[in-house]
Amino acid sequence: MPSHFYFPFEKDFDHYSPKVLDGLSEYEKYQLSFHPERPKYLDYLTIFSSLEECLHSKEFGACLIQTHRALLKIDDENIPVMLIGQQSGPSSDYNTFQEIVTDPALIKSWNDGMPTPISYEKAIKAVKIANDEKRMIIIFVDTPGADPTEESEAGGIAWRIGGTIKALVEAEVPTISVIINRGCSGGAIALTGTDITLAMENSTYLVITPEACSSILYHDRHHANEAAEISQITSKEGFSHGIVDALVEEPKGPAHRFSQESIQSLKTALIKNTKKLKEIPIDGVFENRVKRWSKMGQWEEKIEVDRVPKSRLPVPNSNGYIKRHNGCEDQNGKRVFDPISLEQLTKKDFVCDDCGLRTIRLSAWDYINLILDPNSFKEHVETASILDKDILEFPGYGEKLVAEREKTGLPTAMITGDGKIDGNDVVFCTNDFGFLGGSFCMSTGEKIWRAAEIAIHKKVPMILQAAGGGARMHAGCSSMVSIPKAQLAITRVEKAGLPVVTIITDPTLGGVAIGYGSRGIRLFESGAGNIGFSGKRVIEQYTGHSVTKDFQTTSWLTKNGHTDYVVPLRELKHSIKNIIS
Ligand SMILES: [Zn+2]
Repeated sequence: MPSHFYFPFEKDFDHYSPKVLDGLSEYEKYQLSFHPERPKYLDYLTIFSSLEECLHSKEFGACLIQTHRALLKIDDENIPVMLIGQQSGPSSDYNTFQEIVTDPALIKSWNDGMPTPISYEKAIKAVKIANDEKRMIIIFVDTPGADPTEESEAGGIAWRIGGTIKALVEAEVPTISVIINRGCSGGAIALTGTDITLAMENSTYLVITPEACSSILYHDRHHANEAAEISQITSKEGFSHGIVDALVEEPKGPAHRFSQESIQSLKTALIKNTKKLKEIPIDGVFENRVKRWSKMGQWEEKIEVDRVPKSRLPVPNSNGYIKRHNGCEDQNGKRVFDPISLEQLTKKDFVCDDCGLRTIRLSAWDYINLILDPNSFKEHVETASILDKDILEFPGYGEKLVAEREKTGLPTAMITGDGKIDGNDVVFCTNDFGFLGGSFCMSTGEKIWRAAEIAIHKKVPMILQAAGGGARMHAGCSSMVSIPKAQLAITRVEKAGLPVVTIITDPTLGGVAIGYGSRGIRLFESGAGNIGFSGKRVIEQYTGHSVTKDFQTTSWLTKNGHTDYVVPLRELKHSIKNIIS
């Protein structure tokens, strides 16, 4: 029986010298980052003393995030800490793993390392305990991503991940996260909105798996290596982009072969960084966090982009009719093809009588016209010149940005400005789905940051309109890292005692949902669909079966207890006015 697991490319190694490791392809480095023998969260517990598991639960998903009270010894002092760790599998010992792999129920309980809503609920509770007991928070990140199933959506996984980010940006104690193995997508960003982010030398930190990126770029999953090369997914590259604060050396070689040396190396790094954070007085923790995140992000400020207000409202034919939307089905599941009267549709807020779904996605300019008093919108000078930066030189991204600007009349997906609602001053942030799917990126985080500062300075409410299908893969992990930044900005507005209102429109998924879509007083547009974390197509591909018919619509979300307020389009302005005045 072999005592170790080997990837095919490992067989030719004489030893794991830095030169050999550097020579691996990006995809091979990716595979090594979740080598089954790399130490997992529970293996790292030997760094600490007086361990006490808390929030133990047998519920499905609970084992994927585990939490412990512990002490970290620094010089002669024992520092109380709260540990929150993603445990991506039952064991890092290959022989043990081979024994238990024959137990299907056990394997199922580990859910391929993908946390569920219960997992994140545990993390949120652990942050609360840490606040109450004044324990510094140390987080271990190791996940292929959050669970993409209908069950997890019904459990509100988007709002649980969003809630975890909120809990961490609002934590009353200092926070450190360490990416130990693979930190992928929203499942990872949930736990890295911290005061310091460390990463093990051979770990990866990425917004989308190379396979999924390949599907989008090349329409198949066989170009994962090219996708990985383009996306710059190693933590070393993350460090060079400034989204990881420090790399933790795996001194003798990769952690899957030299685990004790790597664990010892992380211990040294944690002691060093905990010492640093310990110096911050408890009433300076939040201010320190604001200072750290204010520096996160890169953008161009040179090109002038013309603003051309563009509507996405359809133009009817001479009889007042428009083309039927794609995939319209009546209550009996029969396809409907005949044109619809635009006047009728407008009266119903674009909710189709036959299928009950919102059929038109408005542009950012349409929302400005719908919600703000006529001609009251003035774009912020402070955000006007923030553009998306092609930091990865992602193929075709530069050209795409030019085309999207032309198409939407916007500089980036988000535009922010001052405006009035029935005479009340507000700061208004609107996001256009038509601009690269409205995906969350560095410019979104920075614009919300600066708009929040304006709202605080002028003492006015902040209104955000959420739309978008996820975090932008073209900017790699940097787009994802701006999500906690946006959340921290919103917390600053709320701390200043000002209302934050978020309008949830169709679609609000992934990065947009766990970012500002999770925050403030939320108005869900009635009839809207595609609201949650994973999109319908991703879920159907992963599970191999269809989702329910009304999946991720406002009514489905209400049934599952996830809507604050459901508001028809034409009543949005009135509802916001009632909240803010
Ligand atoms: Zn319809």
